Order: sequence, then structure tokens, then C-alpha cells
Amino acid sequence: MTARVDHGVTSGTFSLDGETFDVDNNIWVVGDDTECVVIDAPHTVSDILAVVGDRKVKAIVCTHAHDDHVRVAPALREEVVAPIMLHPADKALWDLTHTDFLWDLDLEDGLEIEVARTTLRVLHTPGHAPGAVCLHAPDLGCVFTGDTLFRGGPGATGRSFSDEHQILASIRDQLFALPDETVVHTGHGEDTTIGAERAGLPVE
Ligand SMILES: [Zn+2]
Repeated sequence: MTARVDHGVTSGTFSLDGETFDVDNNIWVVGDDTECVVIDAPHTVSDILAVVGDRKVKAIVCTHAHDDHVRVAPALREEVVAPIMLHPADKALWDLTHTDFLWDLDLEDGLEIEVARTTLRVLHTPGHAPGAVCLHAPDLGCVFTGDTLFRGGPGATGRSFSDEHQILASIRDQLFALPDETVVHTGHGEDTTIGAERAGLPVE
């Protein structure tokens, strides 16, 4: 059985620096018919479980700790009994949303997460958030970029804990090292490819 990517969309809010916005977040699930990994835990547990189905969840991997990506991570953990994984550089952001819960396992650059006989390799890509990561799935020819790279360019860096210089370096050094044909599954909105974004963003 081969691994595949399943997708949903769920709606809610994002709050930081005293402002709140309505946002649609992508739900990404990588696995086969038996087991899977959930990437981010946005807004509504039932919407995520609708994509998971009756599969065993091996991990809840958070691309970063903005509240629209982690708010229901502890509630989802209760439902599926799987560890929450987050890069520890995002602790300050996590603490803004969750004071009663911590995540379970630290992500680090180069860590490999195995699921359904495929591999998700962690790329630490700070900038949008200090602990932002992307997950490269070489067998599947795709990368999950969270809010680091969107169709049309880099993620936002205008708010607290963000750094524009850093996100550009992360995209250049980590994401643009991937093959052009790599499909980019983003945290919000439509897919793109590494080649399309490389062409639109000369960051030499
Ligand atoms: Zn974000």
C-alpha cells in the first residue's frame, strides 16, 4: 500500500498582537489506509477527523505555533492518542495559546518521521515564526510549507516573532534546494511548486 496525501479545509480565526482575523486553513494528512500523520491542528477537531477517517494517527506535526495551526492540537491529541510535535523555538508562541498543555516531542532540522512506509523530513525554516518547519516528502514529490511559502511568495513577517530576512534565507537555503517539480502544499490557499515560486522570487 502506498502513502498518499489527503486534504481538507477548515475555517476559524487567527489572533496575534491584539488583532483577530478570519482565516481558512488547509488540513493535510499523509498516510495509507491504516496509519497517518496529521500536519497542523487548525480550528475544528471534527473537520480534521473527517480527513483522518478511522486510521491510526501516529503524530500531530505542527508547522509552527500560531494559534490557527495549534489551537485544537491538545483536543485532537485526546481523540487520537498521538504525540504533538513542534519545534521548541516556537515555545513563546505556543504559550500564547496553550498555558495548560505542552507538546510532546521536539522537531529538529533533519528529523525523519516515518509513516505508511514513506518519510517526512523536517526542514527548520525560521522567519514566519522562530520554530517554523516545512516537511519534505521526497517519495511523494511534495513539501508541506505551513506559512513559510505560499502560492505567490513568502509568508507574512509583519508581526511579533517574525523576521523577513530570516524567512528569505530559509526559503533560499532549504526550500529552493528541492527539485523544481516539487509540489508545495501550503498552510492556507492553493498549491504551488518550488519552480514556480523560485521564478517569482529571486532571493540571491
Ligand atoms: Zn502562521
